[in-house]
Amino acid sequence: MIYLDHHATTPPSQAVIDAMAAVMAGTWANASSKHGPGQAASRVLAGARSVVAQALGCKPAEVVFTSGATEANHLAVRGLLAAAPEGRRRVLFSAVEHAGHLKLARELMNAGVPVDFIPVRPDGALDLDAATRLIRDDVALVSLMAANNETGALMPVPEVAALAAAAGARLHVDATQWIGKRPFRFTDFGADAVSFSAHKFNGPKGVGALLLRQGVAIRPTVPGPQERGRRGGTENLPAIAGLATALYALGTPADLDAEAARQAALRDRLEGALMAALPELRIWCAGVPRLPGVSFLRVGRWEADVLLQRLERLGFAASSGAACSSSGNAPSHVLTAMGVPEDEALGAVRLSLGRTTTDADIDALIAALPTLRSLLPAAEA
Ligand code: PLP
Repeated sequence: MIYLDHHATTPPSQAVIDAMAAVMAGTWANASSKHGPGQAASRVLAGARSVVAQALGCKPAEVVFTSGATEANHLAVRGLLAAAPEGRRRVLFSAVEHAGHLKLARELMNAGVPVDFIPVRPDGALDLDAATRLIRDDVALVSLMAANNETGALMPVPEVAALAAAAGARLHVDATQWIGKRPFRFTDFGADAVSFSAHKFNGPKGVGALLLRQGVAIRPTVPGPQERGRRGGTENLPAIAGLATALYALGTPADLDAEAARQAALRDRLEGALMAALPELRIWCAGVPRLPGVSFLRVGRWEADVLLQRLERLGFAASSGAACSSSGNAPSHVLTAMGVPEDEALGAVRLSLGRTTTDADIDALIAALPTLRSLLPAAEA
């Protein structure tokens, strides 16, 4: 099976598996224990934290390990809102945040918190005029993703950071799809808090972090002594070691740029072949800056499930969007926010490449396109 669903998750590298196994076998003690084995675990934890800080351009004390981006997002939004000054109760989300994050937005609304959504334009870019109108001095916090998980569209973080700073609001950025794909330095990013998950860059699942700028007040969602009182619970040391190993393996900003260029060239070659081989192909967000390895598209009036089943029969695993929302048959909220009609949005299929995607994988998909076309129900095209 050729795996083309790297925005959902990526395979852990062998170095990550080895690092995790070594910690599970050798340094399994509780990092808070005062005895020798505990102190050995504590040193592994400190070492991993320094690797993360070095790789992401922040201080070790600014790293709060969590169970992944979902928890880091919750900590950022709930925690920064709870610590916001009197008179700042409003929270802004972009309309195209991750489906799980928008559930949190709805929960806040149900609890009586004033919430507004910053719309996107039909091309998928954030509507900066609307952002300028909405970011006022009653806003506690703006929560914006760096890059969209479905379309790959990049969001204008520096511009929104400037608007938030001018209004005295905090900025949280969900960089889950950005970190690992594009160069990142916390100090240059302009956000007060940044979330990410290790499994998006060949690390393990169930671990991530919130980077929290020093001096920014937050109320923990899981109180406890660990992580300097910002996230309670015994640290998942094997997973944290795996996260640090995966981040380290990403290399320098130049290495990240080279990998991005490689994936963009593969993606562009694939999109060219798809356009030549399949009728009425529509690729969303191709006209705005987007992540290098993703193509979010629809073929004629074929439903996503039909296309995905045929692709799977030919040996390719892809998805219809976010893994967490692809179990139902609801249209993508990202496309709906862009104004795409529901019947068109129901055809959306996401092909997402990763570090393990090869030239040969893309050659194989291109070679399979005539067969794919013959397998699809002609009447629906
Ligand atoms: N935010 C974005 C943009 C994502 O793509 C994902 C994963 O799909 C998440 C948050 C949630 O990550 P996790 O399931 O690892 O908590």
